[in-house]
Amino acid sequence: MEYQAPETTKAAVALLANAKGSAYVLAGGSDLLVRMKGGFIAPDLIVDIKRIPAMREIRKTLSGWAIGAAVPCAELGENKGLKKAWPGVVEAANLIGSKQIQGRCTISGNMCNAGPAADSVPALVAAGAMAQIAGPKTKRVVPVEQIAIGPGKNSLKKGELVEAIILPARAPRSGDAYLRFIPRTEMDIAVVSAGVNLTLDAKGVVREARVALGAVAPTVLLVAAAAKAIIGSKLDDAALERLGQAAAAACRPIDDKRGTIEFRTEVASVLAKRAAKIAYGRAGGKI
Ligand SMILES: Cc1cc2nc3c(=O)[nH]c(=O)nc-3n(C[C@H](O)[C@H](O)[C@H](O)COP(=O)(O)OP(=O)(O)OC[C@H]3O[C@@H](n4cnc5c(N)ncnc54)[C@H](O)[C@@H]3O)c2cc1C
Repeated sequence: MEYQAPETTKAAVALLANAKGSAYVLAGGSDLLVRMKGGFIAPDLIVDIKRIPAMREIRKTLSGWAIGAAVPCAELGENKGLKKAWPGVVEAANLIGSKQIQGRCTISGNMCNAGPAADSVPALVAAGAMAQIAGPKTKRVVPVEQIAIGPGKNSLKKGELVEAIILPARAPRSGDAYLRFIPRTEMDIAVVSAGVNLTLDAKGVVREARVALGAVAPTVLLVAAAAKAIIGSKLDDAALERLGQAAAAACRPIDDKRGTIEFRTEVASVLAKRAAKIAYGRAGGKI
C-alpha cells in the first residue's frame, strides 16, 4: 500500500487520477481506517488531504461559508461565526462519535462515506449546502444530496475529491436545527434523524423551508412536501401536523433490530416537528 500526503489539491487529484489500483482519500480516517482494519477494503493508494492548507480552513465568504474538506468537526464547534449562522449544521457535526472522533472526523468524509445515517448530511441538505469537487479536468459544485447514491456509494468519479462544503449566506430571520434518535446518549448510529432549515418574514411567517430526513431510506431524503407543509404558516399546530404527515409519508426505512419500519416512520414525523420548532425559535419566531 502506498501512502501519499500532497500539499496541493492539484497534486492530490493527479495522484487519484493516475492511480493503478484502488485509491482512497484519507481525511479523518474514522470510517476509512475502520474499514481497512475490518478487512473490508485494502487500498493500493491512500491520499491524505490534511497537509493541503486550503482544506484545513473555514472561510467566511461573500456568498456564505466554505468549510475545507480536512477541517475536523471539533473546529466547526469552535468557530463562533459559523455556529451563529448555522447552529443546526454545527450541532449535527458535533454529535458524531465522541470528542476524540470529532477531533479527527470531517463533514466531507461523513458525506463521501455515504452512510444513510450519516449525522451531518441531513443538516447539510436542509441547509442547501453544496460540495465543491476538484477533478482532473474540471471543478464542479453539486448539491450535497447528490453525493450519496446508495449505502456506501457516492457519485464522485475517478480522480475527483471534495475540496470544501459550501454553506450559503444567511438571510435575516433564518434558523436551522438537527435532531437524531439513538437508544443511548452518544456513540451510536442514528436510528432516525431530521434536519430543518427555515427563513421567516417580518411577521414570523415561514417564507422558505427545507426538510431532510436521515436513516429512513438508502440515502438522505430532501422532503419537498414537508417543506411545503409549513411554508406560509407560523408553525401552528395544523402546519406541524401536515409536516409530520409529509415526513412520515416520505419514509422508506429498513426493518431491523435497531428500529422497525413503523417505529422509524413515527419517529421521523416526531423529529421533523421538533426540529422545525427549534429552527423556528432560532429564526426569531414565537410559537
Ligand atoms: C467510534 C466511532 C463513532 C462514530 N460515530 C458516528 C456518529 O455518531 N455519526 C456519524 O454520522 N458517523 C459516525 N462515525 C463514522 C465517522 O466518524 C463519520 O462518518 C466521519 O464524519 C467520517 O469522516 P472522516 O473525515 O473520518 O472520513 P474518512 O474515514 O477519512 O473517509 C470516509 C470516506 O470518505 C472518503 N473521503 C473522505 N474525504 C473525502 C474527500 N474530501 N473527497 C472524496 N472522498 C473523501 C474516504 O476515501 C472514505 O471512503 C463514527 C465512527 C467511529 C469510529
